[in-house]
Amino acid sequence: MSLKEYQEKRRFTETPEPVADEKPQSGQEPIFVVQKHEASHLHWDFRLEADGVLKSWAVPKGPSMNPNDKRLAVQVEDHPLDYAEFEGTIPEGNYGAGTVEIWDNGTYTYIEKYRDIEAAIDHGVLEFKLHGRKLKGLFTLVRTNMDGKDKNWLLLKKEDMYAVHTPYEAADIPSY
Ligand code: MN
Repeated sequence: MSLKEYQEKRRFTETPEPVADEKPQSGQEPIFVVQKHEASHLHWDFRLEADGVLKSWAVPKGPSMNPNDKRLAVQVEDHPLDYAEFEGTIPEGNYGAGTVEIWDNGTYTYIEKYRDIEAAIDHGVLEFKLHGRKLKGLFTLVRTNMDGKDKNWLLLKKEDMYAVHTPYEAADIPSY
């Protein structure tokens, strides 16, 4: 688990993003956050706390509460825990230039199929239950190509009492 890549991609004299500090677990329950990021391409960054950092995926269409949707989620570098609070503008010329706002957040419960999140990521299947304000209930992240370290995953809502069966577009739902 390392924030080296996060650190190397940014110039902290220019970006207001948090520095790359590793921290102990944030609280009793691990947190998640979804940040709407209007960069060169609009996307939603989906982040789960694990082992003192935020495991992160960029989701071009954003998450969905509809189990029929399969949302591409491209794994990106781990982010510091402090990033869960970050909103603001990354100035032009910097990595990820554009605006970031918190779209949803809360805590999550890891559904234990493997020892921990790192092991689940290695296996390419990660199941969890979100306790957010928008995103609730069971979700799965599954790597599209199981034979390696491919960065492409799918973010899927599982059928449960929270699932919706009408079109769900994160772009239509305001951050707050
Ligand atoms: Mn992003």
